[in-house]
Amino acid sequence: MLDINKVRADFPILNETVNGKPLVYFDNAATSQKPQVVIDAISAYYETINSNIHRGVHTLSQLATDAYEVSRQKIQKHINAKHAHEVLFTTGTTHGINLVASGFSAFVKAGDAVMISAMEHHSNIVPWQMLCERVGAELLVIPMNDKGELIIEEFEKLLTNRVKIVAINHISNALGTINPIEHIITKAHGVGAAVLIDGAQSAPHMQFDVQQLDCDFYTFSGHKVCGPTGSGILYGKEEWLNKLPPYQGGGEMIKEVTFAKTTYAELPHKFEAGTPNIAGGIALGTAIDYLNAIGLDNINTYEQELLQYGTEKLLEIEGLKIIGTAKNKTSVISFNVGDIHPYDIGSIVDKMGIAVRTGHHCTQPIMDFFKIPGTVRASFSFYNTKEEIDALVAAVIKAQRMLS
Ligand code: PMP
Repeated sequence: MLDINKVRADFPILNETVNGKPLVYFDNAATSQKPQVVIDAISAYYETINSNIHRGVHTLSQLATDAYEVSRQKIQKHINAKHAHEVLFTTGTTHGINLVASGFSAFVKAGDAVMISAMEHHSNIVPWQMLCERVGAELLVIPMNDKGELIIEEFEKLLTNRVKIVAINHISNALGTINPIEHIITKAHGVGAAVLIDGAQSAPHMQFDVQQLDCDFYTFSGHKVCGPTGSGILYGKEEWLNKLPPYQGGGEMIKEVTFAKTTYAELPHKFEAGTPNIAGGIALGTAIDYLNAIGLDNINTYEQELLQYGTEKLLEIEGLKIIGTAKNKTSVISFNVGDIHPYDIGSIVDKMGIAVRTGHHCTQPIMDFFKIPGTVRASFSFYNTKEEIDALVAAVIKAQRMLS
């Protein structure tokens, strides 16, 4: 069981007021808030061990290197990767996807195909489009139904041995749909395709095991799991990371450089050129420890309660329509109220201290599919409460009255 008062006390920002009202933060799918332990981990790094890593013999550099590598091991354990060197530090999900899509130029030829789905974030569309344009491959898109669920029979029809990689989100940021990635991974492997999972929206809400999933790549952002911005993870199976060409060249990623030829460093350094976000990587480990201390199962159970409560309460508002009604959902509610523009609702509820996101949520194809300009999106985290949902419902009703 999650102790909500204790949890809320961990997040200093929850004491803030916005526009003279207590902050109600429902933009968690965009970025999560940070507990004090994570904020402290960032300061502690700069106050006590700030130093460049991996190349210094001096004590401070060794302490910083150890802290960074311990964080990598924590994340390895958390996702159950076989080796720590299969866990690459990145700046976030976008970086992870671009790293793989760039390297896949080596494995995708003209006439081959890359598969994504109809509910991807732009960052899991554009890098694959760029890859397809570079090599002359075709981009295939798994369609979805009106509830915002993938049509698995269509996926199976599209899947042939022309497909070299399937890149799909575990959970949709705009709809909240939890996708059946286990099935997709098994089927894709059946035709020899690799699978990349965009875990930006799953890592904050659920435990997953990359060995059990048997995915080839899994990537997520630190800032959505209570960690700092500019931190993130790309997990890749050792055999893929060994085959994949480096993404960026520079310091740290080399074994030997001459003007005639450069040889690359071992994993994970081959993919970690330049000075990384050291404080961010260390504090990401702290964030993962923090989530594990509460327990992702407890988090998930509580957030499902919020989802159910929020869905029921919001649906009591006349004319309110939820976009994304999949059976398997996380705590994201995208909605519209009659013909009112989402931006207008977002602006009015903001005046009441409530932060929701409005717009296309970097998923324009989803908005095109539902023939809407955008949605209002309330995304709940484990530090939110039913009382805050009541405040949102009251604010939306007020906005509706003002705008109708
Ligand atoms: N994929 C999904 C599903 C997301 O929700 C996001 C962030 N909204 C991203 C990718 C991109 O993450 P980042 O901006 O942290 O790189």
